[in-house]
Amino acid sequence: MDHFDEIDLQDCPCCGNVGSIEEEGGWCLYVQCGYCGAHTAELSYKNEAERQDAARKAAVNWNLRKVIYPGPGE
Ligand SMILES: [Zn+2]
Repeated sequence: MDHFDEIDLQDCPCCGNVGSIEEEGGWCLYVQCGYCGAHTAELSYKNEAERQDAARKAAVNWNLRKVIYPGPGE
């Protein structure tokens, strides 16, 4: 269940660090930067197929720099 197919994540659009797919509560996921906290919108899923689809969509959003930045920073 922890494996995602062929997800290619670019560096964080905010700080250039590595982004990763984070799952929350077994029903939604998003891509988040472990350094600055920028993240994509949460995408919910109900089954494994939707989970893979959500991971791909989150990765696309991330790679298009459609991220939510948590607040003003340096
Ligand atoms: Zn970042």
